[in-house]
Formats: sequence, C-alpha cells, structure tokens
Amino acid sequence: MSKLIITAAVTGAFGTKSQNENHPVTPKEIAEEVYRCWQAGAAIAHLHMRKEDQTGSMDLERFEETVKLIRAKGCDIILNLTTSGELGTTEERRMAHLIKLEPEMASYDCGTMNWMHTTIFDNNPKFLEKLGKTMIEHDIKPEIECFDVSMIENAKYYISKGIIKEPAHFQICLGAPGGLPATVDHLLYMKNNLPKNCTWSAFGIGSGHMPILLATMALGGHIRVGFEDNFYLKKGVKATSNAEFVERTVRVAKEFGVEIATPDEARVMLGITKKA
Ligand code: ZN
Repeated sequence: MSKLIITAAVTGAFGTKSQNENHPVTPKEIAEEVYRCWQAGAAIAHLHMRKEDQTGSMDLERFEETVKLIRAKGCDIILNLTTSGELGTTEERRMAHLIKLEPEMASYDCGTMNWMHTTIFDNNPKFLEKLGKTMIEHDIKPEIECFDVSMIENAKYYISKGIIKEPAHFQICLGAPGGLPATVDHLLYMKNNLPKNCTWSAFGIGSGHMPILLATMALGGHIRVGFEDNFYLKKGVKATSNAEFVERTVRVAKEFGVEIATPDEARVMLGITKKA
C-alpha cells in the first residue's frame, strides 16, 4: 500500500468564528494553522482567503501574504490554492494568484452546480478550458474536485483534450448541499468511475466525515480534513485546531498500518515539481 497523503483544508470559504471560534480567518491565523497541520503530518494545505468580515475572498495580496508567512516558518508543505470561494467574482480574479504565485497545486472544480441551495457555483466549460491551460502554462497540478460523478466524466473529457495532464489527481467531495451526500455507497461509485491512471483523495462533510475517512483509507485513497469541511471532531465536540483532524487521521492510519507521506514524498507520488 502506498503512503497516505493528508490534505488540510484549514479555512474554506464559508465557515466563520461564530460556528467555531478557532476557525482561522486572517493570513496570520491561516499560516499558523497550516504550520500546526504540517507538524501533525499533513503534506498538502488547501488555502482559501477571507475579507475582514470573514466572507470569502480571492484577493491576490492576501494569498501572497499567507504563502510568505507559511514559508517563513520553514514549512515545506505543498500549497494548493483555491480557485473559488468569492461569490460573484470574475474569472480573471479566480486565476490571478495562480499566474503571480505559481503554486504547486490549485483546485479545479470540474463542473457547475447549485451550491448550498442558495447560489450557483459557476465552472462553465470556457472557464475550465482557460483554467486548465493556465495551470499547464504555470506548471500547477490540478486538484480535480468532483461533487458528483458527472464532474469525473467532465474531467475525462478535459484529459482527452490535453487540458488536464495525466496522471490526474482527484478530490471526491461528498456532503455539500447540491452535491452527492457523504455515504460510502456514493464514495464507492465515484471511486469506481475514476480514470485508471490517477491518484485520488476524498472527504465527507458533517456526520459523513468519519465513514468517508475510514472507507477511503480502506480503498487506498488519500484523505482531506479540516475546518473547510467540519467544525466538530465528533458530535458536540468542536475541534480546537485543524491539527486535531490531522492527528486523528494519523492515528487511524497507524492502526491500518499505513505510513504518512511527507510533502516531498507526496510530490513524487503526485508528479509535482518542487517549487521554492
Ligand atoms: Zn476549498
């Protein structure tokens, strides 16, 4: 069995301090949480930014400041910058930080969907083509986020057109209102529809977190954890830090007899060229 890559999604675009007071929001808070997660065993950090009022932001300067703060700590975690999370923003703003900062990874949400029963998560075909080409041009590995199986089929199309390079890396996202619920049945169906030559990871939001984590580990997938997906470690117990989710994943992996991948090991497994 290959080593386990843990992604820490420390902030997301929607959770706030009123839901969990330990939720990082500022660049400094986000950098500190990433550092804790890295020390606990995370190989990848998936980053969102927030405005002063805690709403999601694609602000280039905030991304830049956060990346600098993380690297200043001597932390070599793979940085996966989001390309979404600011409602109503432009496509240019969703890609500006990729062009300027050239992170090792970025999210690639492989289809448009109704989001949280309130809005549209717009990932139209023209945008996905531009985003894929931008990522190839700047040597950024896409984390292909799929909220239902049609998004996996979209990804296969973009792979066939050379817009996504193989081997592709998938994130199976379960439990978001508007996407597939976080059940083991859905996980299995998604996993069985992935292209042969790929790596994959998964997460479940809310009460689906642990069932998806355990089933993913049993199926040989990688794991994403963090406040983007969950505020509670278990019913009634709020996490004090994103690192608690990472630490629990490491404990479970040990019981499975699975070793944890370091950032450099994850780079080799995912075919990522290390950047400064
Ligand atoms: Zn995200």
